[in-house]
Amino acid sequence: MADKRDYYEVLGVAKNCGEDELKKAYRKKAKECHPDLHPGDKQAEEQFKELNEAYGVLSDPEKRQQYDRFGFAGVDGQGFRDFNAADFGFDFSDILNTFFGGGFGGGASMRRNPNAPRRGSDMKYRMTLSFMEAAFGTTREITITREENCHTCHGSGARAGTVPETCPVCHGSGMVQQQQQTLFGVSIVNRPCDNCGGRGKVVQEPCESCRGSGRQTIRKKLEIKVPAGIDSMEMLTLRGEGEGGYNGGNPGDLYVEITIKPHKLFERHGYNTYCTVPITFTQAALGGEIEVPTIHGPENFTIREGTQPGDTITLRNKGIPVINRPGQFGDQIVTLHLEVPSKLNDEQKEILRQFEQTCDEQNYRKRGSFFQKLKDLFTD
Ligand SMILES: [Zn+2]
Ligand SMILES: [Zn+2]
Repeated sequence: MADKRDYYEVLGVAKNCGEDELKKAYRKKAKECHPDLHPGDKQAEEQFKELNEAYGVLSDPEKRQQYDRFGFAGVDGQGFRDFNAADFGFDFSDILNTFFGGGFGGGASMRRNPNAPRRGSDMKYRMTLSFMEAAFGTTREITITREENCHTCHGSGARAGTVPETCPVCHGSGMVQQQQQTLFGVSIVNRPCDNCGGRGKVVQEPCESCRGSGRQTIRKKLEIKVPAGIDSMEMLTLRGEGEGGYNGGNPGDLYVEITIKPHKLFERHGYNTYCTVPITFTQAALGGEIEVPTIHGPENFTIREGTQPGDTITLRNKGIPVINRPGQFGDQIVTLHLEVPSKLNDEQKEILRQFEQTCDEQNYRKRGSFFQKLKDLFTD
């Protein structure tokens, strides 16, 4: 998501453009990449998603303001919706009709009964955790904004005590048939009913809470239990916590996508943790006990005599807890970094010189074999 395009750029409009211009731009672009017109074209599908996300934000005055002020951060975290046509107050079949001169009125999505139960959209929430929170699990309270059936009218859109009436024009189907003269003779096309906006029902007295839309936006607090061991890019699924369904349909799901902040000392690959520990020249040469940090606390480890720079040691089961497997852990892999002493005083230098004189090839095996190879290079 790092290289998300600016929403205005996606729609190809200026920052100060009006609502009508925005809608026009959206329709034009939607025609270019609508999945129904490009079946199986992944790129068009992505483009269409991007377009819908951009329009979803910019067409909502409150979200647009947030976006103008804070960028993606302003509209992020509220989760995104997989917008569908109904959210925009017009139908895609409408767009497609303009494109195909009406021949597209019977698109699969429009043939459905408008009053059939429909599942609510899924939502996504991005959660950033510290390294340790992800390793050991945590509980977080989040607030999401989602759409549900209006609590007053239970989604009917009608004032209390009244019920929506079946649309007299389309008799509840939401579609009307129209005869059309074409090159090949008269054809009959279906198009959404104007009288009821394709809903199949008309509300005479609208509900005061939702002004007849049947929907309301609510803010909800949710407690999210993040299991120990969760990794970046993993998702938690909260069934039924997405947008509310329509006509008694099930609600969508909420997906919580995890991002983990880097740690100063540890890196992580899967359930293994990695870190680098500096050791002294003398420790490397003589071996001995060193203290190694792990995410579970410091551990003592005995390094062998003649440890070389870059050698690694493995502390079994000192890594990240394996998700949903109590008692199982990854390993910690430690790279030993040999620090050569600097700023030596005269006495120290003298001791080292004396020491060096006592050394022979036995003490520097790699060096010995290196010079042997060098010799071979010129004698071959
Ligand atoms: Zn209502
Ligand atoms: Zn109707």
